[in-house]
Amino acid sequence: MYPDRVLSGMRPTGALHIGHYHGALKNWVQLQNEFPCFFFVADWHALTTVYDETELIGRNVWEMLIDWLAAGIDPNQSTIFIQSRVPEHAELTLLLGMSTPLGWLERVPTYKDQIEKLSHKDLTTYGFLGYPLMQAADILIYRASLVPVGEDQVPHIEMTREIARRFNHLFGREPGFEQKAREAVKKLGGKRAKLYDELRMRHQQHGDDDALEQGRALLADAQSLSMGDRERLFGFLEGSRKLILVEPHARLSAAPRLPGLDGQKMSKSYGNALAMREEPAEVTRKIRTMPTDPARVRRTDPGEPELCPVWQLHLVYSDEATRQWVQVGCRTAGIGCLECKQPVIDAILAEQGPIRERAQVYLDDPTLLRNIVADGCDRARKAAQETMRDVREAMGLAYS
Ligand code: SF4
Repeated sequence: MYPDRVLSGMRPTGALHIGHYHGALKNWVQLQNEFPCFFFVADWHALTTVYDETELIGRNVWEMLIDWLAAGIDPNQSTIFIQSRVPEHAELTLLLGMSTPLGWLERVPTYKDQIEKLSHKDLTTYGFLGYPLMQAADILIYRASLVPVGEDQVPHIEMTREIARRFNHLFGREPGFEQKAREAVKKLGGKRAKLYDELRMRHQQHGDDDALEQGRALLADAQSLSMGDRERLFGFLEGSRKLILVEPHARLSAAPRLPGLDGQKMSKSYGNALAMREEPAEVTRKIRTMPTDPARVRRTDPGEPELCPVWQLHLVYSDEATRQWVQVGCRTAGIGCLECKQPVIDAILAEQGPIRERAQVYLDDPTLLRNIVADGCDRARKAAQETMRDVREAMGLAYS
């Protein structure tokens, strides 16, 4: 068995916003205390949708990495790297593509979804269809057992598990294989089971090729076996194969979803985001001008927090007493909206102070960041190469 390992990545979108911080990075910081973690910048993934606008990728990668470190990702605990600096990802994507049915990729829910959402772009490309496969390779190449994801990504992890299972079935061995195989032997029936065991021993202990052939013939004749048991017994007879790719599990994060400043989904491209390293004056201005419950036209009109995006921020940033103050004050018009927003502004500024300080170190000395990432890429590549050695060998490509 392989030890637990976490893998997660982000496309290089440049400076991150507080939605990324609360939705992913805080969780990563926590995970790095529990497991060995691999965090990567998915720069090749960016090309699956913006293959014709590549000039900003480099700048976006470094900006985003500064935010990771500023959020508290510790390069001594976690491996931080860039996908395209580990070309083995491409090799595994290619090899897995040989045995991945096309229908699996077309069925991924986000595929149709994205094509509809991004209808202004031509996404009828091989790269876009294949991006969930590349994502599977990103995970499998590190034998990652845990992948922190949101609900919408669960089907991707399910498909990754299927890809790993199929690969192991074709080229390796399933977990609990030995025990399952021994049970399957019993199903052959007394006499034939005994003969199978004898032939297996002659082949594996004495290299007897005749015994191997006889064993294969015996299995071909055994009508009562299920397909799975037959496959197992062929593998058991031939010996030597092993579990190569690890099936990952989705680790659902309970992270809150932060609304944008207009109450819609927070996104830099919608112009409704608050950056992780926003200028303090901008934080104040942006929150103070946020829309509130439209029912509160005048200060004396009561409101309803559930209908107000500011309340969503209170849920993330305020303690129980403050929330209580908001609930009562809003519904009775006891407080004004600017008054209500102040604790949120104060909490965001308090949160961002240390983040800005940590980021400054890397802004002042960019070499520091480059060195951390170069070191991370080396470590990631070493792990990826180990898996690829096994993959090539299992697929019969390690010939001389
Ligand atoms: S008082 Fe607070 S919760 Fe109520 S509408 Fe104003 S900003 Fe929103």
